[in-house]
Amino acid sequence: MKRVSIFGSTGSIGENTVDLIARAPEEYEVVALTGGRNIARLAEQAISLNAKLAVTCFPDCKQELAELLSGTGIEVAAGPMAISEAAERPVDWVMSAIVGAAGLVPGLKALEQGAALALANKESLVCAGELLMRTARANKADVLPVDSEHSAVWQALVGEDISAVERVILTASGGAFRDWPLEDLPRATPEQASTHPNWDMGQRITVDSASMFNKSLELIETREFFGFEPRQIEVLVHPQSLVHALIGFNDGGLMAHVGPADMRHAIGYALHYPERRPLPVERLDLARIGKLEFREPSEARWPALRLAREVMKVRGLAGAVFNAAKEQALDSFLARDIRFTDMAVVVEEVLAAMEGENALKCDRMCLEDVIETDHVARIRAAEAAARINMDA
Ligand code: NAD
Ligand code: MG
Repeated sequence: MKRVSIFGSTGSIGENTVDLIARAPEEYEVVALTGGRNIARLAEQAISLNAKLAVTCFPDCKQELAELLSGTGIEVAAGPMAISEAAERPVDWVMSAIVGAAGLVPGLKALEQGAALALANKESLVCAGELLMRTARANKADVLPVDSEHSAVWQALVGEDISAVERVILTASGGAFRDWPLEDLPRATPEQASTHPNWDMGQRITVDSASMFNKSLELIETREFFGFEPRQIEVLVHPQSLVHALIGFNDGGLMAHVGPADMRHAIGYALHYPERRPLPVERLDLARIGKLEFREPSEARWPALRLAREVMKVRGLAGAVFNAAKEQALDSFLARDIRFTDMAVVVEEVLAAMEGENALKCDRMCLEDVIETDHVARIRAAEAAARINMDA
């Protein structure tokens, strides 16, 4: 039996992972499941998968979880420390599907015990790519990409010589405002930004898709995970979201990964790796789909892409600042304190200020520096958002 834990099991990626595991219960021993405030669902998952441990990140939810699981023999815990400790429980495979920088510590703990880390939580690669990949190497643990584009790149590279790769193209749907007039963007509401044309995902990544902060994180993720140079990594708008990524080789050939917009494909590939097994996803009818479109992304519409280029150039702690400022700016937008277009303004301001103070340099990244930098960048971003709010 494969021993597995799922961090963020009640979220969109978490539920898709639970779905795959629940289809073959005889193959898995579920060790830990973690979630947030959706205690009823966390308890339900823990019972149906016969998990050993259920953890909520909110201490005030512990009592409710304990009541729902009383008499089941399932252990209950709460709080960020308990999540980190859950990641130390021995397993073979861990799904990292917490949203935001909170996924970093459990991801590192999982790698330290040598577990394979299926990484949906792109934020951990963005804020601490060097540290995460170094920890994986030191413990001979695999990081398995789950982001659909990165899973696509990984699959297209099987059996290839990486030095023959000229370029990597990540596709982007363009999100909710792909075709909006530019002048309407400042008035976009959180509700409007929270709908996605093709994917059903958590709210934060959905809004990040509309702003392309998600694609910006993915550019950095590609750089950190595969080690490609920034100039080799491109973005193409592809409204159908069926081609997830393309690899361009030095002989002019392009290898594209095409599949349905269903995260169970990428999750399943990482779950069964190195095998390929049947998955319960739609088989595409390309004749019915008819055509696939591609366009150049506009930096005027999506300034986040330009900021990601700057982060890839500077590296060091720039990713930690970028991610933390973005998370804070997103909170401010969701709280209606700033406009949709102000998010990039906030992130750019914080990045420039901290770069000016020489706060992004680091020779050998350590967790303490990342946490401290994340903390400072959030405060700076909150200040910038408050200033913008006052000016408006
Ligand atoms: P979600 O909001 O649906 O779920 C997030 C999960 O994390 C929930 O279980 C929630 O309870 C938990 N959580 C939230 N804050 C937490 C905290 N501070 N500490 C501990 N747990 C916390 O998010 P999602 O859409 O499933 O995305 C999860 C991750 O996967 C993100 O990093 C996202 O970028 C990435 N991702 C998602 C998709 C997708 O299709 N949803 C695709 C690619 C990558
Ligand atoms: Mg993606």
